[in-house]
This record gives sequence, C-alpha cells and structure tokens, in this order.
Amino acid sequence: MNLADHATKTALDALRAAELFRKAKRVVVLTGAGISTPSGIPDFRSEGSGLWSRDEPMEVASLNTFRTSPERFFHWFRPLASQIFNAQPNPAHMAIAELENSGITTTILTQNIDGLHQKAGSKKVLELHGTIRSMSCTQCYQRFDSQPFLPAYIDDGTIPLCASCNGILKPDVILFGEQLPQSAWMEAQRETHQADLMLVAGSSLEVLPVAGLPIQALDRGAHLIVVNNTPTYVNVRADVVIMDDVAAILPEIIKRAIHG
Ligand SMILES: [Zn+2]
Repeated sequence: MNLADHATKTALDALRAAELFRKAKRVVVLTGAGISTPSGIPDFRSEGSGLWSRDEPMEVASLNTFRTSPERFFHWFRPLASQIFNAQPNPAHMAIAELENSGITTTILTQNIDGLHQKAGSKKVLELHGTIRSMSCTQCYQRFDSQPFLPAYIDDGTIPLCASCNGILKPDVILFGEQLPQSAWMEAQRETHQADLMLVAGSSLEVLPVAGLPIQALDRGAHLIVVNNTPTYVNVRADVVIMDDVAAILPEIIKRAIHG
C-alpha cells in the first residue's frame, strides 16, 4: 500500500471508529506503554528504550531483586522515575479524558504506572500494574504519597525510607513476579463484561493477564477498536484497526465522536 492509500484507509477507519463511539453506551479504554511514549516515557519492556541496554528489566524489575538488593532496583528505576516525574499528558490522554467528560460512561484500564490519565483529568482509572504515585513500607506496610520522596531520589538516588520505622519504601508498582492488585483486577473484569465497546490504545497486548481482556469483551458481544503502531494478536477480531501513533489519531476520532 502506498502512502496516499494508507492515509485514505486511516481516515475511513477513523470515521468508522467515531461511529462506534457514538453508538456506545459503556466504553472501556485499555491503555499501555504506547500512549505514554509520546509524553517521553520509554516502554521499559521494549528493546531500544535505553533501559534494556544496562539491565534486563524482567530481572532487575522483579520482586526478587527488590527483596535481595533493593539498591540495584532503585538504581535501575531512577531514570524512569525521573521521566515520569517530569512528564505531561499528551493529546491522546486529553482526548480520553474528554470522552469521559462528554457524558459517555468511560472506564480506563491502564498498564501504565505514570498517573498521566489522572493528570489529564480522567476520573475512573484502574491502574492494573500499580502506580508510582504512592509507596508502601516493606516493614510496617504503611502507605505514603511518593511526592515528598521523589525529588531527593531522582536528584541523588536517596532510597526512600519509612518515617515511622525506617524500613525501605517500595513504589506501589507491580514488579515482575508480583500479583496484580486484586480489587482493581476484579473491577477491570466487571467493567469489561459490561462494556459494549472496548478501545485498545497504545498496547501491544503482550502482558498477561491484562492482554486477555479484549477477548472477554468480544465474547460478550462488545465491539473492539485497536489503535496501536504495532500489530496485536486481536487485530483479526477487531471491528476497526488503526496502526498509527495514538497521540496523532485518537484526538481526531474522539472529537468526531463527540461533536459529529
Ligand atoms: Zn514502616
């Protein structure tokens, strides 16, 4: 397909996607790393993100490494934490927030830990892989807002410690080898089963069990739209597939869905 044909196809697919949004009563939006890369946050699971060149994420970002050598985890996590701390939502986050504000019942299920959906103004967000916005003490389990700890950690690598017991604080992000937060996961499945439209935005659907949610939606008769710049395993079953940058295409679709 040449470039002009691709542009025409994308435009037509965007129209069809907007039409599906207009008819929808309950929308679930599933987002992954691809929605935050335009905000400057690398996908730490992807090769070429810069984080792979130093360490293997599945090893260093694991619960086992955190328990046995937390300083190694904190050293690896620091550039990512810095990028997240300084990141701003992009037009894709804004468009999804606008969808919710327009009165269409919208639930966001995200694999991201960056809190950018909330920064964009979205209210109903289930963070399936946890969040960097809070930390929990590994000794006494007290939970703290990350905000006061992040600047010192980002500036000079100071490991955050509990104000009550001096235990090491673990960011509330789900590490490899850790279970998903149970209540968020149950609610994500409930929302998926009730949705009549699911939008996958910026996820390659490679990480289980979250990657299985689109099939659960389809099996209950929901429509499916996939916007991602690489193929996903559910593309063959989706109503609309747009292989493009989410920050470029999503605002257009949602504007058309809301304003006609
Ligand atoms: Zn403590």
